Amino acid sequence: MTVAEGWVAIAGLGPGDEALITPEVSAALDNASDVIGYIPYVARVAPRAGLTLHPSDNRVELDRAAHALELAAQGRRVVVVSSGDPGVFAMASAVFEALEAGPAHWRDVDIRVLPGITAMLAASARAGAPLGHDFCAINLSDNLKPWALIEKRLRLAGEADFAMAFYNPRSKARPEGFARVLDVLREVCGDDRLVLFARAVSTPEEQLRIVPLGQARTDMADMRTMVIVGSSQTRTIDRARGPILYTPRSVS
Ligand code: SAH
Repeated sequence: MTVAEGWVAIAGLGPGDEALITPEVSAALDNASDVIGYIPYVARVAPRAGLTLHPSDNRVELDRAAHALELAAQGRRVVVVSSGDPGVFAMASAVFEALEAGPAHWRDVDIRVLPGITAMLAASARAGAPLGHDFCAINLSDNLKPWALIEKRLRLAGEADFAMAFYNPRSKARPEGFARVLDVLREVCGDDRLVLFARAVSTPEEQLRIVPLGQARTDMADMRTMVIVGSSQTRTIDRARGPILYTPRSVS
């Protein structure tokens, strides 16, 4: 008897709105036998006959990745779900770390990464085009790297005049970290630099706020917020229907 060929698709569910899930990801979910991921992301997948959902806690990324590879090696069709894009501070790297360290037979598994709309791009689109010129993305969580490295990257990115997109700006476990981030940014970029706080983009709880750095407060961000700090060129266009935040295409 031959075993059906299994596969792993590491898929991005986008920022929240179903309309922002790609057809490629929807097709993979339609063909899946198993869905693996962090509890709130698996909750976004509609249950159906023949589909087993495996929600798990966020702290067990590598176990989750190993579970996906082992199920696929046994012939299951597995979708590992992340929010946004799976390659941006999410499960794709975790699956490849597990693959690199794992048993040789996992390397025969068909593994695909299916992109999604990452929070930074969804937030940027809602506000206008703050990432229209050169920019960088930094994960502010210090779970996976030392604070000193975060601070070094903030200072150098500010000096290089990049716009900056921050993921995981603030959590209950690290309330003081984001205050230090704002202090460093004010020191390097000055009080007038524009900041976008974009919360729960593309969901019913969406909230956008644009303030100068001098007025930015830690309680404007939580773990569902994307923070985008403009470059020195980033500006607003004021309109009755709400401001547009954008960075021009060229620097004079
Ligand atoms: N892979 C995801 C990012 C995971 S890190 C992606 O590509 O989007 C989780 C962080 O992403 C959150 O702390 C928050 O900063 C940001 N985020 C995710 N979804 C968001 C949304 N709908 N609105 C604003 N920020 C979001």
